[in-house]
Amino acid sequence: MKAFWYFARQMLHYRRLLVLALIGAVFDAMCAFAGLGAFMTIIDQFLGKSLTLQQIVEKHLNHPTVQSVIGDRTQWADALPADAFTGFCITLTVVFILAILGSIGRFTHQYLAITVSLRTVMRIRNQVFRKLVHMPIAIAGSEGMSDKVSRVMVDCNYLSGGFNALTSRAVRDLLLGTAYLCLALLMDWRISLLFLIGLPIIFVLIRKFGKHIRRAGRRALGQYGVMIQSLNEVSQSLRVVKVHESEGYERRRFNVINKRLLAEQLRARVVRAISSPVLDTIALAGLIGVAIAAAWLIFEQGLAGEQVVKVLVALGLAGAQLKTLGRLSNDLHESDAAAGRIRQVLDTTVEPSARSGQSDQHRLPRHRSTVAFHNVTYTYPGAAQPALQQIDLSVTHGTVCAIVGGNGSGKSTLLGLIPRLYDPTDGRVAVDGVDLADCTLRSIRRQMAMVTQSTVLFDGTIADNISYGSRHVSRQQLTDAAKLARAHEFIDGLPDSYDTDIGEWGERLSGGQRQRLAIARAILRDPAILLLDEATSQIDADSESHINEALAQFTANRTTFVVAHRLSTVIHADMIVVLEAGRIGATGKHNDLLARSPVYQLLCRTQLQDAPRDSL
Ligand code: ADP
Ligand code: MG
Repeated sequence: MKAFWYFARQMLHYRRLLVLALIGAVFDAMCAFAGLGAFMTIIDQFLGKSLTLQQIVEKHLNHPTVQSVIGDRTQWADALPADAFTGFCITLTVVFILAILGSIGRFTHQYLAITVSLRTVMRIRNQVFRKLVHMPIAIAGSEGMSDKVSRVMVDCNYLSGGFNALTSRAVRDLLLGTAYLCLALLMDWRISLLFLIGLPIIFVLIRKFGKHIRRAGRRALGQYGVMIQSLNEVSQSLRVVKVHESEGYERRRFNVINKRLLAEQLRARVVRAISSPVLDTIALAGLIGVAIAAAWLIFEQGLAGEQVVKVLVALGLAGAQLKTLGRLSNDLHESDAAAGRIRQVLDTTVEPSARSGQSDQHRLPRHRSTVAFHNVTYTYPGAAQPALQQIDLSVTHGTVCAIVGGNGSGKSTLLGLIPRLYDPTDGRVAVDGVDLADCTLRSIRRQMAMVTQSTVLFDGTIADNISYGSRHVSRQQLTDAAKLARAHEFIDGLPDSYDTDIGEWGERLSGGQRQRLAIARAILRDPAILLLDEATSQIDADSESHINEALAQFTANRTTFVVAHRLSTVIHADMIVVLEAGRIGATGKHNDLLARSPVYQLLCRTQLQDAPRDSL
């Protein structure tokens, strides 16, 4: 239960509300307790001695303990009616008023307890999300995000359930149960102790049930992650699913996942279903044992009947309150399973943010001379082969470096090393001679912009998407960037122009339109280093040449790395790097490479589109 308590402690952040809630709970319990006390006098009024309310109160006021505390106050009883019926009616009225007061206390308690538990879970969700966005790409890639998403959504809900159980039900039940038990002990400790003999058995059982439920809970929660992954895949590739007529396949696949989730959830079913009846039976057996002992005391020892009835009532009520603790324990253990999984996310390493960056890291000044790779090797975590090996490369400020190579030759990996999405396994990447490992991520990334082949758009308007990641952008700057990226024309044609909502994932735009938005976004960031990873792969050749022309002025005083798939882009590059299976095969200008690099010739013929076949 360590993980659960770790998070439960965060509720202390709302100490004041918790104290108020506790006051409400105590008030509620006190009213219920006093109500029971008033109710007990009815037994005296009806049974046995048939006392009137006045006589009962007088008797209590005469009690030596009471007298020692408040002095002789027997005259108070005289204010009460001597008539038995009126006394009875007054007693019932008091019981009713106490019940209403108790309800007010209960409302306050529940209201505040739910507030605290929901607010705390909200804070925890933020903490988890913080870890998610600051997670290094390498870890996110190897562990998958669906499981993490599920932890934010599903596990946090379970945690919230645990908080609710703990703060709302448990407090009142425990308070009242203990109070009833104390009352019973005060009235007759021998009978009450007999009842308590069953307690250890109940505790052992509750623990056993809890453990089982936690284990089953953890597995079920894991299965939710798998389900979210499947949902993600289907919703993002609905077109492919439909055209390939694989709806049936997807349905069956989902059904399997769903069934597995059900199986995990059912595992806890037996324990959940059995725990309440078993605990009830044990409590009842205890009560019957007590009743037999009591009967013996009444018949053989001549103990007063009504006294025993009162003790039994108190014990029965105590049992009923404490019984719910079994369910509470189950809820808390289930919640603990979720807490453990959330804790794992909080324990993952994150990229050092600007604020928490190591103190020996300094700001990288704006790039003005070179971007250099010194003997860089990079191996993805868990991969057998390095994706890049012994890369030595120096690119001068203001030039365009094109990277070409077959699929999987390491082009994207090379680009990712520049904004430190990954850190080299070996060797170093330096900007203006400064090792990037010594610089804060913020100062590195602030001067870079990246456009990838799969353009990600965010739910929002066109303007939101272009200005994403840039601050304080005027509409003029926005349209200028869009014009450079050849996006202005199509945006202008949209119903609300720049204020058009593009919907989730930009579903309503074509691939080329999305890429143009991404290029505009990169331009707006005014980067010193521009990273284009097949940024124009979905844009037609004609538009692309226009974009390239426009970009030529833009890239003049920046360093550009471009993974290209068209000859027209490569030809104008100041330097071309040919990657072969993670190594640099050749570097040089187009004509030079065409003359001496067979790999480059092959690439020109097969990979680079728009290459004039006859000239090769
Ligand atoms: P390119 O962009 O040239 O097509 P990449 O740089 O994406 O190639 O990939 C280079 C190599 O690294 C490939 O062999 C690929 O399988 C591997 N790779 C890419 N991403 C990962 C990853 N997240 N984990 C493990 N291996 C990866
Ligand atoms: Mg790639």
